[in-house]
Amino acid sequence: MIDLVSAKKRLQEQLKEALKELEQLDQRLQQKAEYGHGKGDPAIYEWEFTLALRQQAQARVETIRQALQKCEEGRYGICERCGAPIDPERLEILPLTTLCINCARAARA
Ligand SMILES: [Zn+2]
Repeated sequence: MIDLVSAKKRLQEQLKEALKELEQLDQRLQQKAEYGHGKGDPAIYEWEFTLALRQQAQARVETIRQALQKCEEGRYGICERCGAPIDPERLEILPLTTLCINCARAARA
């Protein structure tokens, strides 16, 4: 059985960190926007890189929120592909996984 209480706690901690990261990236993006950037300015590449990081962080926040939502609905730890319970040890290492080990292997193959 999955320990939902500690799973949720772990997810909430991850969410907090991801939101903090998002906030820091937003601040960096705002700073660059103030300077404005001309063509060929190396700062524009850095800005675009930060924007890509921000999109990743945003996606991460969404994934964690979905996992927390699943906790609420009692669907956390259930494989999205075959409906089998995911090994609790696997969930501990990969709290955001939505696939059991067998389906994850099949998806990769
Ligand atoms: Zn599965």
